Amino acid sequence: MTSLASLKPAPFYSPQSDECAVFEAAHANRLPLLLKGPTGCGKTRFVEHMAARLGLPLHTVACHDDLSAADLIGRYLLKGGETVWVDGPLTRAVREGGICYLDEVVEARKDVTVVLHPLTDDRRRLVIDRTGEELQAPESFMLVASYNPGYQNVLKKLKPSTRQRFLSIGFDFPEIATETGVVVRESGLDEGRASGLVRLARHIRSLSGMDLEEGVSTRLLVYAGSLIAGGMTVDRALEVAIIEPLSDEPDTQQALRDLAATVY
Ligand code: ADP
Repeated sequence: MTSLASLKPAPFYSPQSDECAVFEAAHANRLPLLLKGPTGCGKTRFVEHMAARLGLPLHTVACHDDLSAADLIGRYLLKGGETVWVDGPLTRAVREGGICYLDEVVEARKDVTVVLHPLTDDRRRLVIDRTGEELQAPESFMLVASYNPGYQNVLKKLKPSTRQRFLSIGFDFPEIATETGVVVRESGLDEGRASGLVRLARHIRSLSGMDLEEGVSTRLLVYAGSLIAGGMTVDRALEVAIIEPLSDEPDTQQALRDLAATVY
């Protein structure tokens, strides 16, 4: 089957390790995959890249604490006086034999796991209570989920009974050369200034005792790089793309400014 996705070139993704091979093996063996890692380190881009490489349609869902099973499966909606069933993104991915990517899956409501369990073991079934349908996922269907183990939320941990249904890959920020390459490619900044941003990021990530929930993401480095490449002064770009997004505390912000002045 040729899907639209297969006609588009795969978006740029610079691998950190053997994750592309693991993804392909998971897909070939019809196994679900969990991506663990901090925000903005490339997990979503990785899934987009792999979906395009495999020529599969991708349905991405950004999970939040109000997201219920019905949001994933679908619901009856009133259209022009008639009640019609509308598939949710998970059902669409199952019907099409595509990839469903649940970003930050721990955020979703508990009833979501009830739906995922029969899909993530060898049954590979999606039960749609409302319509009485039971779908058998085609071979090409794959479920991918991500979560960020760094968030200190004891109430929101993935239950072992759910975790143990997925293959898992741990992501972290890429090593220096890879991350510099990503910033150059994504922002258009020259390599010298891009590597300065990466050096600063590595300093910030290694800081302990500062009031930072997480280190600076590759995404923020790309933002800073784009602003600088577009003509903004370095100080201003670091302020709006790194310092303000990382902290609301004036003391912490000042410490970050001081660090930037010595490193960049
Ligand atoms: P996550 O899903 O982990 O929060 P994203 O995949 O959205 O992070 O990454 C944020 C941005 O960082 C991407 O849009 C891309 O510009 C860049 N990026 C991060 N890592 C990579 C990588 N390995 N290859 C290409 N781009 C990357």
